[in-house]
Amino acid sequence: MKNFEYAVPDSIDKTFEYLKSSKAILKAGGIDLLDMMKEQLISPDRLVNIRELEELKFLKEDTNGAFLIGPGQTLSELAEDQTINKSYKALAQAAGGVASVQIRNSATLGGNLCQRPRCWYFRSADFHCSRKGGDTCFALDGENQYHAIFDNTDGCAIVHPSATAVALIALNAKLIISNGEKDREVSIEEFFVTPANDIERENILNKNEMIITIIIPADIKDYLSYYHKQKEKQTFDWPLADVAVALRMEGDRCQDARIVLGSAAPVPFRSKSAEQALVNQNINKDTAIKAAEAALIKAEPLTLNEYKVPLFKTIIYRTICHTVGIDPMN
Ligand SMILES: Cc1cc2nc3c(=O)[nH]c(=O)nc-3n(C[C@H](O)[C@H](O)[C@H](O)COP(=O)(O)OP(=O)(O)OC[C@H]3O[C@@H](n4cnc5c(N)ncnc54)[C@H](O)[C@@H]3O)c2cc1C
Ligand code: SF4
Repeated sequence: MKNFEYAVPDSIDKTFEYLKSSKAILKAGGIDLLDMMKEQLISPDRLVNIRELEELKFLKEDTNGAFLIGPGQTLSELAEDQTINKSYKALAQAAGGVASVQIRNSATLGGNLCQRPRCWYFRSADFHCSRKGGDTCFALDGENQYHAIFDNTDGCAIVHPSATAVALIALNAKLIISNGEKDREVSIEEFFVTPANDIERENILNKNEMIITIIIPADIKDYLSYYHKQKEKQTFDWPLADVAVALRMEGDRCQDARIVLGSAAPVPFRSKSAEQALVNQNINKDTAIKAAEAALIKAEPLTLNEYKVPLFKTIIYRTICHTVGIDPMN
């Protein structure tokens, strides 16, 4: 590993000063960043450690009733927080399902949203694929069992790795991004970049920018939400497929639905067809099955991941049922 400077700012202002160095990069929990450095996929000249920065750690409601989360909150803290469990359950479940307890104690929300893809060709220095500036996607004709079943024809078939992003899109979250001089607010859906727009990046952050706040709008308190992750093994593992559902209900009738699939596409995939199948319907097992079927109509599996189609249908059905308290197995 190349030598690097280690900067520990004591304020957000100082963080932006340290970031001005040409190859400086933020380090939060370091779980993904250090992997990338050890594999020699990146070689920063300065790590700016924000893991202990108190200014980035907060969970609070603003005067308008929106819930504000600091990007420095760990995944364990999100999974255990009472307000999040009560009002934004999908987020608590997504954060609590990531990796192992040791990783969740270190990993932060900001780092989870900005982690790089897990595609094994991308993670190996031996494969100079399109996402690293090469001209080939090795997954398209290779080992693609964990890759995308939607939007996989634009030269890169990664699945977006962040579980919390799936939940936060279902919860219609927004992000405040800053470069130290100017802040901008974006919907979290606009934060992620598709391969068609730029194959070498996963989000819109410029080099000197960071996420300083995650906002869940006030009206989301009126929604019920649920997140489910299907893993290959029961100990800590990445999802084969995951889904977050948020429903605004009036009695048994669904007024609004937000359904997001993870491990399905290069960015967390919002299934508008599943949502449309639920709106203005009574939610029961039949409508849940119809929504799950609708979600997969346009799936285009690769050579080795066709299994994801029935898998997603099952977990979407189950997650919709769980959201409204129906036992999907009975
Ligand atoms: C065995 C294993 C299993 C895992 N399983 C899952 C899983 O199932 N689901 C899942 O979602 N993740 C999973 N992960 C990934 C893990 O959750 C992430 O690596 C971790 O959340 C990253 O957070 P961090 O704070 O350590 O980020 P870091 O590694 O410190 O940073 C990651 C990236 O984010 C940037 N960054 C950090 N904070 C900010 C900020 N505030 N603004 C802008 N950029 C920022 C950094 O510069 C860096 O580029 C797994 C990891 C392992 C090792
Ligand atoms: S899926 Fe994307 S990251 Fe993986 S080999 Fe293809 S181009 Fe590279």
